[in-house]
Amino acid sequence: MTMDSPIPFRDLAVPGVRDLQPYQPGKPEAELAREYGVTDIVKLASNENPLGPSPAAVEAVGRVAADLHRYPEGGAHDLRAAVAAHHGVAPEQLTFGNGSNDVLDLVARAFLGPGREAVFAEHAFAVYPIATRTVGADAVVAPAHGPEHAQPHGHDLEAMLAAITGSTRVVFIANPNNPTGTWLDGDALESFLERVPREVVVVLDEAYVDYALDCPGYLDGTRWLERFPNLVITRTFSKIHGLAGLRVGYALSCPEIADLLNRARHPFNVNAAAQAAAVAALADTDHVRRSVALNREQRAHLAERLAALGLRVLPSAGNFLCVEVGQRSDAVNEALLRAGVIVRPVGGYGLPRFLRVTVGTAAENERFLAALEAARSDGLIERTA
Ligand SMILES: *Cc1c(COP(=O)(O)O)cnc(C)c1O
Repeated sequence: MTMDSPIPFRDLAVPGVRDLQPYQPGKPEAELAREYGVTDIVKLASNENPLGPSPAAVEAVGRVAADLHRYPEGGAHDLRAAVAAHHGVAPEQLTFGNGSNDVLDLVARAFLGPGREAVFAEHAFAVYPIATRTVGADAVVAPAHGPEHAQPHGHDLEAMLAAITGSTRVVFIANPNNPTGTWLDGDALESFLERVPREVVVVLDEAYVDYALDCPGYLDGTRWLERFPNLVITRTFSKIHGLAGLRVGYALSCPEIADLLNRARHPFNVNAAAQAAAVAALADTDHVRRSVALNREQRAHLAERLAALGLRVLPSAGNFLCVEVGQRSDAVNEALLRAGVIVRPVGGYGLPRFLRVTVGTAAENERFLAALEAARSDGLIERTA
């Protein structure tokens, strides 16, 4: 064996994978500490819950620790019962995943493949193209609303409808969307569901639903499950429940679709600690309420302060804000990193003038604002509002 003739692995890979852009996660704190030598880091890059996990969930993880030699419950029995009761649906309508990203993947593996198309919007969540292309299907990107729309850069449902062809099998909708934070009017969404061909599976990704309920016009999609059997709603324990590190999410759908997704699922995709923690987190309604209240207060405060700095902030129904800092967003991001503040650049989402910042605690948000003001004093930031 020599190194003279490298094996052309890239050519050997399936075309969908060969041309994928790797998913860019938020920079981990340990990495920033290693690379920049900074301490006292504030991470506002991955839309995690600033209050942390529910203490009841932490305790539940401790309780399963002694049984880690056992495989998890493959059918997630207790979690399934708890989630079914929470939503008032039948247990057969649920599919659990290793995070809701896993569930998005299951939809792609069950309904997409070569010669089939998935439609999603420009600036939509990065996992949709990954799930679509890895199974050899074509990603059809519908243009988003323009910058002057009431939901700037948000999903344009009419454009998405127009993008549907005879080969479309899945439509992915994020409501609210990440990274823009924009959301859809409930009536418009209902009208969209009425007009989508019945054979097209509509995935409504509601990762941030709890943060969105107070936003004008926002409706939670579970109300349409009975009426539209082609509707699949995805939810996660990563955001409001603060369990991103454990990886657990689920889909609500009609039993027929759930059955298909469960066939495509790997048998033990949700680990034992995640199942136990999720049951406890779901029951801790106090923690959910506190998390929603903190986000509501701090999201408004942060938006106001950013606007006062002359920056344009997209309307957000999530636990994050997308803020326009101008042409030198890379330099702004770099300055924030040096100050120990991690946010998320969103150039990869087609928004190169913006940064996405997670709404943190009051103290974390202050740290971010102070670092941003310093970057502004250094002339890195444009007036964008
Ligand atoms: C964070 C997020 C998710 C959640 O992903 P998990 O795999 O459940 O952690 C799903 N959809 C969107 C749009 C998100 O931003």
